[in-house]
Amino acid sequence: CGIVGILGRAPVAEQIVDSLKRLEYRGYDSAGVATLENGELTRRRAEGKLKNLEAKLAKSPLAGHVGIGHTRWATHGKPTEANAHPHAADGVAVVHNGIIENFRELRIELEKQGAVFASETDTETVAHLVNSFIKKGAKPVDAVKQALPRLKGAFALAFVFKDHDDLMVGARKGSPLAVGFGDGEMYLGSDAIALAPFTDDICYLEDGDWVVMNHKGCEIFDEAGKPAKREVLKSGASA
Ligand code: GLU
Repeated sequence: CGIVGILGRAPVAEQIVDSLKRLEYRGYDSAGVATLENGELTRRRAEGKLKNLEAKLAKSPLAGHVGIGHTRWATHGKPTEANAHPHAADGVAVVHNGIIENFRELRIELEKQGAVFASETDTETVAHLVNSFIKKGAKPVDAVKQALPRLKGAFALAFVFKDHDDLMVGARKGSPLAVGFGDGEMYLGSDAIALAPFTDDICYLEDGDWVVMNHKGCEIFDEAGKPAKREVLKSGASA
C-alpha cells in the first residue's frame, strides 16, 4: 500500500505509476491514478498488478499535470476495481492508506445527507465527508481542515480537487507521508524511496500534520491547525 502525488508541469500519470512501482515492496492488491484534465478529475483503476493499470492507461491515457496514485492493500471491501482508489465524491478525489475506524457512523450520517456511495471502502467516506463541507460552502482546504478531526483511526491521505490545478492537500496520522520539493514541482509520497526519481529534498510530516501544497511549495500545519516548521532533509534515496 502506498501513496504518490505530483503537482507537475507535464503529464504525470506515467511518473505516478513509476513511483508506485517503487512502493510495490509493501504489497498491494489493486491500484489507481487520478489526474486533473481541464479542471476535471479523471480516474483509471485496476485490480491486481500495476501492469493491469498500465495497460488501461496505455489504452486511455490521462493527460493531467496534477495527480494522485495509490496501491491498495484492502482492509474494507474486496480488491475490486470499484473499491480501488482514488475514491471520488463530486469534485473531491482522495487516496488513503490506513483504516478509518468510524467509517460506518460517518457513512450513515453522509447517506442521510444524500451522499451516494460507489464502493464498500472506509476511504470513500473521507471523500464524501470533505465534499459535504464543500457543499456547505467551504473552500477545499477548509473542507479538509473541518473533516480531519472527524476521522478516527490511522491514515495517510492525499486530495486533489476539481477546478483546482495548483492545489494538493495531504494529511497523516499513524501512517507515514513525506513531502518532496522539486523545481516548480511538488510531490507527496509514502516514503523517500517513492520520491527518489524526482527529488532528494524531503520533509517528513509528523503525526497529526497536514499540508497544503501548490507547484511552488507548501505550508504545513499541526493537528491543532497551527503553522508548523518541519526540517527539509536530503533523503539520499536518489543517489
Ligand atoms: N482501508 C482502505 C481500503 O481498504 C485503505 C487500504 C490501504 O491502506 O491500502 O481501501
